[in-house]
Amino acid sequence: EVSIRDLSKSFRIAGRDFPVIRNLNVAIGAGESLVIVGASGSGKTTLLRILAGLETADAGDVRVSGRQVSGVGAERAMIFQEPRLLPWVNVLGNVAFGLELRQGARKVPRREAEAQARHYLSLVGLTDFADAFPRQLSGGMAQRVGIARALAVQPEILLLDEPFGALDAMTRITMQNELTRIWHEEQVTMVLVTHDLEEAVYLADRVLVLPKEKHRAPRLLDIDLPRPRDRSSPAFTRYRE
Ligand code: ATP
Repeated sequence: EVSIRDLSKSFRIAGRDFPVIRNLNVAIGAGESLVIVGASGSGKTTLLRILAGLETADAGDVRVSGRQVSGVGAERAMIFQEPRLLPWVNVLGNVAFGLELRQGARKVPRREAEAQARHYLSLVGLTDFADAFPRQLSGGMAQRVGIARALAVQPEILLLDEPFGALDAMTRITMQNELTRIWHEEQVTMVLVTHDLEEAVYLADRVLVLPKEKHRAPRLLDIDLPRPRDRSSPAFTRYRE
């Protein structure tokens, strides 16, 4: 679960404070999804980075699974628009990478890390590409590897920043369907940023609309549609509009 209370964040640029997030309150339960939309510059990425622990808030309380967020943590995995794979490491090695980095009691031996990596590769349909290198993959395949890598550390929450923004329309729909399946199978909580309103309605339990003008309040919309969602249903179309 994710709980954000009275969150505020400004950036100081050239001696002036620019508010990016003002008094934000939003919560989702474990296994639910929050999709963040809003105009360019409305603070979507900033909010995701605060959840990831990559950015600190000025005020407010941010919790994931009841624990206050401070710094990065393995229970929160981030997926970016570009999967940022290591070019000189094969697909299996890229997925196993996070596991092998662990230290202390949570350290996973290489063989075990690779066995787990294979499991997550099969989850994203890339078993046959374990030995391939990133440059040999299409954009969609590379992003699948990124998703497998994030899932391999068994996070409680996936933070996705426009994960399909660089993909063509057909691949995007395939990836949305795959993400939905994985989300249900792994029972992970998701917070996803997108510019695509259809994607928002397809994936969200709640949609958070961040305003560009900071005197306006953020808006929350509950998406009350059965899962898996049917893009052709009139209710879906109504929501999207
Ligand atoms: P986009 O849709 O274009 O990706 P966004 O909604 O994700 O935009 P953010 O990237 O969160 O918006 O940026 C929100 C505002 O905060 C912008 O005005 C940006 O200039 C400012 N900002 C973001 N990061 C920093 C930073 N590190 N230092 C100063 N200002 C920043």
